[in-house]
Amino acid sequence: MARVVVIGAGVGGLAAAARLAAAGHDVTICEQSSRIGGKLGWYERDGYGFDTGPSLLTMPGVFEDLFTATGGPLHAELDLRRLDPIASYRFADGTTLAAHADDDTFAAELDERLGAGAGSDWRRLADRAARVFDAAEEPFLSSPVRAGGLARLAWASPGDIAAVAPGRSLRGLGRSYLRDPRLRMMLDRYATYSGSDPRRAPAALVSVVHAERRFGGWYVPGGLRRLGEAIARRAEDRGARVLLDTRVLRVTRTPGGRADGVRLADGSQLPADIVVANVDAAALYGELVDDRRGRRRVQRATRSMSGFVLLLALSGRTPGLGHHTVTFPADYDGEFDAVFAGRLAEDPAVYLAVPTGPACAPPDSEAWFVLVNAAPHAPAAGRPDVRGLDWDQPGLADGYARHLLDVLAARGFDVRSRLRWYETITPADLARRTGSVGGSIYGGSSNGARAAFLRPPNAARVPGLFLVGGSAHPGGGLPLVVLSAGIVAGLVGPA
Ligand SMILES: Cc1cc2nc3c(=O)[nH]c(=O)nc-3n(C[C@H](O)[C@H](O)[C@H](O)COP(=O)(O)OP(=O)(O)OC[C@H]3O[C@@H](n4cnc5c(N)ncnc54)[C@H](O)[C@@H]3O)c2cc1C
Repeated sequence: MARVVVIGAGVGGLAAAARLAAAGHDVTICEQSSRIGGKLGWYERDGYGFDTGPSLLTMPGVFEDLFTATGGPLHAELDLRRLDPIASYRFADGTTLAAHADDDTFAAELDERLGAGAGSDWRRLADRAARVFDAAEEPFLSSPVRAGGLARLAWASPGDIAAVAPGRSLRGLGRSYLRDPRLRMMLDRYATYSGSDPRRAPAALVSVVHAERRFGGWYVPGGLRRLGEAIARRAEDRGARVLLDTRVLRVTRTPGGRADGVRLADGSQLPADIVVANVDAAALYGELVDDRRGRRRVQRATRSMSGFVLLLALSGRTPGLGHHTVTFPADYDGEFDAVFAGRLAEDPAVYLAVPTGPACAPPDSEAWFVLVNAAPHAPAAGRPDVRGLDWDQPGLADGYARHLLDVLAARGFDVRSRLRWYETITPADLARRTGSVGGSIYGGSSNGARAAFLRPPNAARVPGLFLVGGSAHPGGGLPLVVLSAGIVAGLVGPA
């Protein structure tokens, strides 16, 4: 049995703790804040309740595997509901369409709304997405990254590498499959699932389309925060301890260089045989451990986008509004240009999540979670490796919130007269709350053909130190961070 310290109670840290505790290890989680979940946050006030981070769950099988492997089925813990449609889209020309879960219904909707042929174009792209997903799932998503990740794929099957199309961008792939610019916009948005720019993100991200369509989009009544709570419960049931308000300042090492514990903010030392870091890899290598190569690696990657969140407490109900709505601007590229240059996007795509149920809003009211992509927080005297803007400038967040309410109104969602109150969560808030450098949601972005393979591996060069979570391999988003926990548990092995 090894003594394991997990730094951070984000979903990846909790999932790793559950697996390692179930494998017989002695596990302690140190969480700097007073709550578990990390980016999977929750905010409530005056009878309104909001998920402040993830609002869409995909690849439920990954969570089923986690629960089954740690002692009992997921459905005994959580009620997962499949969403249909997964989302509704609204384009700048006023066209709307619903992304129905069933492929035939969705294809018919595309033909009807966008014109004949749109459905078959999308189907051809979806077939390609399935091939990429199948090629990448086992060697990439579920395995530790090793030197020559691309080469390993090629070795497995030359056909697979052709499907993955290394060197090609997601935008380039879209151009060759999709004739309608609105369809291309829909595809481009999948680059933002890893905080990336579709013009620079690899074509392999088309696999996200497959993951979403084949396994569905899901929600947990009462909020996705329930998922974090359930994983924490499972970890504790298997013997893990969760220490809240316990900030780790340093990973300590033996004279030989092996990780042998952590130093806490109160000056005490917690000894360990294994340290699992669920903190942003840029923070780990920037502040918690000396490893020049590890630091260089994370600094080489462009930071992923952050998000600006508006929580709207509204009176009344919006007729016909679904669970998820995406409203696109006329010029999507303008948004990526602005965000990656460290500016505010004036006319961004706006994403709405409006779940229903008593935990979310009082009767005859709505709680809107509004999200736009945003440049990371880069205070004037902050980190030179983060390109962004100073979100703490007085008035910036409120001014942008008001601007976004106007943008929504211009796109047919005028809720200004129904607004009881709003709250903002800026990239600076996200950075403070979760320790992610600049508030970047996914650590390094996937911009660049090899970026996905340059993500920090789960086994650090420092013996005894492992990385779990969205900034490490295989990437961000709830299913991927849970996959990273499985990889780490496999690397550590049983007690
Ligand atoms: C606005 C937003 C929307 C999103 N939407 C979706 C979505 O719809 N679907 C989806 O799948 N994903 C979504 N994501 C991404 C998803 O939330 C993340 O990928 C995932 O939750 C990250 O988990 P993690 O394991 O990397 O840990 P994190 O959530 O990053 O947690 C890290 C934890 O470590 C703690 N910590 C940091 N430093 C220290 C320290 N020194 N000592 C102790 N503790 C420390 C932090 O407090 C935090 O609790 C969204 C994220 C955001 C912010």
